[in-house]
Amino acid sequence: MAQIANCTGRREASITYDVIIVGGGPAGLTAAIYASRARLRTLLIERAFTGGQLVMCDSIENYPGFGHSSGYELSNSMHEQASKFGAETKIVEIERMELGGEEKVLHTTEGEEIRGKTVVLSLGARPRKLGVPGEVEFLGRGVSYCAVCDGAFFQGKKLAVIGGGDTAVEDSVFLTRYASSVTIVHRREKLRAQRIIQERALDNPVITVSWNSVVKGIGGQHSVEHVLLENVHTKLTQKVPVDGVFILIGTDPNTKVLGGQIKLDEMGYIITDENMQTNIPGVFAAGDVRRKLLRQIVTACADGAIAATAAEKYIESGQHFK
Ligand code: NAP
Repeated sequence: MAQIANCTGRREASITYDVIIVGGGPAGLTAAIYASRARLRTLLIERAFTGGQLVMCDSIENYPGFGHSSGYELSNSMHEQASKFGAETKIVEIERMELGGEEKVLHTTEGEEIRGKTVVLSLGARPRKLGVPGEVEFLGRGVSYCAVCDGAFFQGKKLAVIGGGDTAVEDSVFLTRYASSVTIVHRREKLRAQRIIQERALDNPVITVSWNSVVKGIGGQHSVEHVLLENVHTKLTQKVPVDGVFILIGTDPNTKVLGGQIKLDEMGYIITDENMQTNIPGVFAAGDVRRKLLRQIVTACADGAIAATAAEKYIESGQHFK
């Protein structure tokens, strides 16, 4: 346990947590449940509110055993569970991390230092934004960043899907389970998606592509009623009536705070082994911030459980004293 001097000059014991979890989405919350239940002194740090992107989901239909739970309810329940086992929560922003040493030191924007033997990075990823008028105003009222989460709300509706990558094109096919029409809006004349994914979309009679088009705005009264598209060559604009707009133009992992200490892939996601171990001993990553195939609540939770267990094994083996 480290010693620090307070303002009276008296020396006090500071806390060294066993596990510090940075990011309170489902990966972080599950890591907190597993770590605290393993009787590790656990701190969950979140900059805004626990739940992460999960709280953006009105209804969760694909998390086993929770057919009609809302994201808010599910994240609250996870947080209660972690707190019940003794996990502490702190709402504060981390500005900088020193991860290379035996003891990991996290610096908050309020000038505080938080110390731990291990760190779980569950920093999440945020959907890339278009930055057009109507995008923020109609979020949850026709604008979505997640086809799997929200597709079922558009039964028999007309949809626009923005983007030409694997996510947009694959999810367009997924959305045809519900929608009466899907228009892929892509800024070039060639999709980025893998050929096999393209073929499935282009062969689907419900899907059309608006090539060389960019979104200039999203409009409507109480919910989305149209998108305004501009042809990048002719500059002609067109108001296309739709009930929903799925913006699937990629995600940006929240790794800026790592300051280059952790190995990332070419897309900026954290590279881990199957035990969620990063390139730095005692530092683990879990959830959407990690390079992985499937970014879902269920896989985030699985990552969190593994990361906390790996942290426990790491501490037990005494490796943090090496
Ligand atoms: P992505 O590969 O980065 O593609 C993003 C798409 O959105 C691109 O077509 C891009 O256009 C477009 N875009 C980006 N910014 C835009 C803007 N401001 N306005 C309009 N369009 C914009 O992202 P992703 O599709 O989410 O895929 C991310 C990673 O996951 C990729 O490595 C992908 O292969 C992988 N993934 C794989 C699978 C699979 O294998 N089944 C499924 C999903 C995702 P340009 O093409 O013109 O740049």
